[in-house]
Amino acid sequence: MRFRSLVCILIIFVILSGCSVSNNGTFYAMNTYIDVTVHSNNNNVIKQIESEVKRLESLFSVTKKNSEIALLNENGTVKMSKDTKNILKRAMEISKLTNGAFDITVYPVVSLWGFTTNSYRVPSDEEIKATLSLVDYNKLIIKDSEAKIQNGKCDLGAIAKGYAGSKIREILVSNNIDSAVISLGGNVVLHGTKPDGTEWNVGIQHPITADDLIGTVKASNVSVVTSGGYQRYFDSEGKRYHHIIDTRTGYPADNGIISATVITTDDTAADALATSLYVLGKEEAEKLWKEQQNFEMILVTDTDIFITKGLENKFRLNDNNFKLNIIT
Ligand code: AMP
Ligand code: MG
Repeated sequence: MRFRSLVCILIIFVILSGCSVSNNGTFYAMNTYIDVTVHSNNNNVIKQIESEVKRLESLFSVTKKNSEIALLNENGTVKMSKDTKNILKRAMEISKLTNGAFDITVYPVVSLWGFTTNSYRVPSDEEIKATLSLVDYNKLIIKDSEAKIQNGKCDLGAIAKGYAGSKIREILVSNNIDSAVISLGGNVVLHGTKPDGTEWNVGIQHPITADDLIGTVKASNVSVVTSGGYQRYFDSEGKRYHHIIDTRTGYPADNGIISATVITTDDTAADALATSLYVLGKEEAEKLWKEQQNFEMILVTDTDIFITKGLENKFRLNDNNFKLNIIT
């Protein structure tokens, strides 16, 4: 009897200590450092995540010579893997939802501004107009396992990390891991809750003072994704130009929003929508939120922060120079 209870106590101890074990790893892929923390004693899962993200990068990267997207851009057609087909379909879905504010065929314009090569320049109005005429997500045709685009090029930079997040979550589920946090640049994938069952506290980067947080948000089982002009930009003749293009003008989006965060269980949509809201601006972002009701958002302007009502008890403002407003 005594032996049995000793075994029981030992088993409980192993289970408890097993839960509190955490494994951490960092690797570089998709142009960013990816930081993985899994609360599990399975130390193989980080390697699995790394090879999955690198595999996706080799399919989606616009700059890797033989990626499926590079081949599509070069030849106007490509035979696709399941993942490329899935991500292109999700991208099309978000383009329709946002009336083209989100548009992966924006690549020629992104490239004209030098954001793909880091040789930045301010193009002339004529160049922008001519290049913008190539942008139209309706030109992308997906049929069976083939994608086609005539006189256009695609760039998955605004959605690829989100899609990678959804595939990482699949790996965590198949390894029976119920507590993990993965940070991919401005994307944070929260899997389950903290080991003690409470929500995670995620910092939202301050869009003006880079090393600070503008606030924190409590969340679990969602992706928290932030898009901001501060993430990539160049200055020319006293003016700042960033990497998120307004598909209506061909210029960097300029509507007063300086960062847009989306929180939702749909990891892929979180990424694509954060970029979309940044382009749409406050009024249209609010309209989309009211129509969809399946995501929460945090919009920051120079003076104000707007959070949707689901975040009212979850968001904490760190910088009192901003006025906090609730969207209902
Ligand atoms: P993100 O950091 O997710 O907001 O994505 C920004 C990246 O997406 C840029 O560096 C471009 O490669 C690409 N991009 C820029 N503007 C758009 C747009 N309006 N729709 C889709 N992708 C875009
Ligand atoms: Mg995005």
